[in-house]
Amino acid sequence: MDIELFRRHGHEFVDWVAEYFKSVENLPVMSRVQPGDIRKKIPPAPPENGEPMERIFEDFKSHILPGMTHWQHPGWFAYFPANNSPASVLAELLTAGLGAQCMVWQTSPAAAELEETVMDWLRGMIGLPEDWAGVIQDTASTATLCALLSAREVSTGFGANRRGARDPLVVYASTEAHSSVEKAVKIAGLGAENLRLIPVDEHFALIPGRLEEAVAEDARRGLRPCAVVATVGSTSSGAVDPLRAVGEICRRRSLWLHVDAAYAGTAAVLPEMRGLLDGVELADSLVFNPHKWMLTNFDCSAYFVRDPGLLIRTFEVHPEYLKTGRDAVVKNYRDWGIPLGRRFRALKLWFVIRTYGVEGVRSLVREHLRLARLFRSWVEAHPRFELLAPVNLSLVCFRWNDGRKNELELSALNKRLMEAVNDTGKVFLTHTALNGRFTLRLVVGQRTTEERHVRLAWELLTSEAEKLGA
Ligand SMILES: *Cc1c(COP(=O)(O)O)cnc(C)c1O
Repeated sequence: MDIELFRRHGHEFVDWVAEYFKSVENLPVMSRVQPGDIRKKIPPAPPENGEPMERIFEDFKSHILPGMTHWQHPGWFAYFPANNSPASVLAELLTAGLGAQCMVWQTSPAAAELEETVMDWLRGMIGLPEDWAGVIQDTASTATLCALLSAREVSTGFGANRRGARDPLVVYASTEAHSSVEKAVKIAGLGAENLRLIPVDEHFALIPGRLEEAVAEDARRGLRPCAVVATVGSTSSGAVDPLRAVGEICRRRSLWLHVDAAYAGTAAVLPEMRGLLDGVELADSLVFNPHKWMLTNFDCSAYFVRDPGLLIRTFEVHPEYLKTGRDAVVKNYRDWGIPLGRRFRALKLWFVIRTYGVEGVRSLVREHLRLARLFRSWVEAHPRFELLAPVNLSLVCFRWNDGRKNELELSALNKRLMEAVNDTGKVFLTHTALNGRFTLRLVVGQRTTEERHVRLAWELLTSEAEKLGA
């Protein structure tokens, strides 16, 4: 494609994205295609000769778009959000145009130094201790893996071979922890059988006393307690583990404490929500995802560590071909994580924070919290809906309950209710299980979600529930 064609289509695509932002509300939130529908439309073999962009773009609109689920829809209440913003999209375009591989300082000094600066900004924005350092990872799953790898290295000596060791390392997290913890334990070679899931209280938060008992029991059996992953804002219900109490146990027992705040970390930009991270100074690492609730295109996950030296010792290798004369005075982020090659992700974060300002981010998050509490008040006031978890953040867990005693029937009914509401195409909710109950989740976190969208979700829920003859 020649450059003038690129320019023409570039303008056209920016126009398309602008229209998409304006009109996404009119599309069904969840894609309605059936399995295999999209593959049927795409030729099984690649074209032998190049095709004009007009044709490719037409196919994008007719074949691809119907198979998209619209995460930027204001009726998005599912999973957790992955909100983007116009500023972030524009920065991604620049990043793609620059096409830089930002593995070491020399391969793009601006990328390295901007990353250092925006991570310092973020650290201050959520109130982490000033001597912590941050690095951008692709996802929270990767950051949690990095944390467990560092914890493993600290426990056993850097670079040690643990094969055949008789004293397995043990990792602890609550029964409500994200599945990425189990995945990280498996990948780190610690053995899935050495992950202890600690019981939670009636608010789905880890019980520190039970953690203490489990650690003591493992130590007694000759195992080596190694790390704890505390969750701030669990995926199922938004539960918050008591960081300070967990941190004190970790300090006493010399355990690595990693905080998974993938979704909830953003809320700590609000002074009134800082309590979420009370005790974080006792932790060793924390992850939160600007790509969830902070207006930054996926992917962008912020990983912070108390001691970057331990992170670097976990990952650094020094092949001759990557040595540069500046290694002693600059940050080479290839040593701060798993991949060598790195995208210039700091740019979009810089654009986002500058266009919104910290106060802009705060007011967005504050509004989402307000809307979630408003929705909670409707659930509480309704005779046949009930809350199933405390609303700590912008996530509400609830269900229809008309008093019938049969739990299986209630679960089936709530599943049908969720499907009926989602089938309207106007909103999208997902579910979880809490205490074995089918639980509807409504998360407010889309950039464009307003009170009228939350109201619409509620109206659809109540009217579909009546229709189901509940
Ligand atoms: C979303 C989420 C994750 C996983 O995040 P990725 O960035 O997709 O890996 C982990 N933990 C919690 C609590 C989450 O909400």
